[in-house]
Amino acid sequence: MRPLEYLKELSFPRMGGSDSETKASRMITEWLTEFGYSPQIEKFDIYTYIPGRGSLKPLDTSLSEIPINPVGLSADCDMAKEIILLNIPEPEWAEKDELKNKIVLMPHPPRRKWVSLLVESNASAGIIVVDDIRIRAYRTLGQEVARDFGEKIPLATLGYKYAIGLINENVRRVHIKTEHKRFDGNSQNVIAELAGESERTIIITAHYDSTPSSPGAQDNAAGTVELLQLAKKLAGNKFYRNIRFLFCGAEEMGLLGSKAFVRNHIHELRNVDFLINLDVGGNPIAPVMLRTLGTDNLEHFIGGILKSKNCPAQVESDIYSSDGMPFARFGVPSVSIARAGINSRGHSPYDDYWQVSNRALMEIVDCAEIVLSAIADAKVLPFQRTIADEMMKKVDEYFKERE
Ligand SMILES: [Zn+2]
Repeated sequence: MRPLEYLKELSFPRMGGSDSETKASRMITEWLTEFGYSPQIEKFDIYTYIPGRGSLKPLDTSLSEIPINPVGLSADCDMAKEIILLNIPEPEWAEKDELKNKIVLMPHPPRRKWVSLLVESNASAGIIVVDDIRIRAYRTLGQEVARDFGEKIPLATLGYKYAIGLINENVRRVHIKTEHKRFDGNSQNVIAELAGESERTIIITAHYDSTPSSPGAQDNAAGTVELLQLAKKLAGNKFYRNIRFLFCGAEEMGLLGSKAFVRNHIHELRNVDFLINLDVGGNPIAPVMLRTLGTDNLEHFIGGILKSKNCPAQVESDIYSSDGMPFARFGVPSVSIARAGINSRGHSPYDDYWQVSNRALMEIVDCAEIVLSAIADAKVLPFQRTIADEMMKKVDEYFKERE
């Protein structure tokens, strides 16, 4: 089968902890077995939910009831209160007394600093305004934020077009109701290995889960089938380094699969020289983009290799919000390979297989293979196995905001 055919089969919502995510993990396991691998499934616990529904009824105007979506892992509610707009850029601007007992309409994602502001101000609920095409993307609280604040505050998302209506009609009081089922569940990583001649290891990852309600074709059935294609091409080879193919679950819920892998394999991480992460692909119009997370030395090495192989790609050095991040905390440098641009509708129901071309998938497979082959057999690693201080600072800030 061509990568695009695998992708079509995988393009169904695969939310972390759901039965359909498990189904996707089985499909990946079967394909890897067909290619000659003996894949392992590593389960891990997650706190997850079944996406629910909600409504917002403006009480002092003729506007009709509006659909809202509970933010996953926040509290549910059934309340009539005053609603106010909070459009400050940072929580430090807040007049906490003004939020007390109010339903707070705001643009900010439900990260720790905003959720804790609402809880500390004794706000009654938070309504987060989102892009209309992502209205069913179901924002989710991070696991730690959910544990600390989840049951203390109801949160929901509302599409921009409805938010404008509320503001223009000067709506003051609303009745909101949300309901969704939270539960302790599990997700899984699928791991296949190409044994090498030494203890040194390169990991190649792609997350195979999606956000709720999105078929997750570009994000990230694309990376998943690119990784499958690489595994298929390399089957039977032996390099100096071990090659581990890591298909991560529950990335969209806060990098939970890669965090679980790092936790469970902590003693092996010192043997891991490098990680290649494939997240978001399939758009043939957009250039290939590689984001290195390490030192300048790594960025220059990757840029040089691709140029020498006539592989056109944009190489830059920065963090990338995906499965390379938990490894960076332990000093493992990485590159994330992606392409997205016009019509990138990640995290929405429109991220379906028709958005993807086989050519786009293969271009990333080729690019990843060039990078991999330049390192897999090198006895001396051609760049420093470290994360530059200024990058590490960004990594720490990233997790501080989300955990
Ligand atoms: Zn992704």
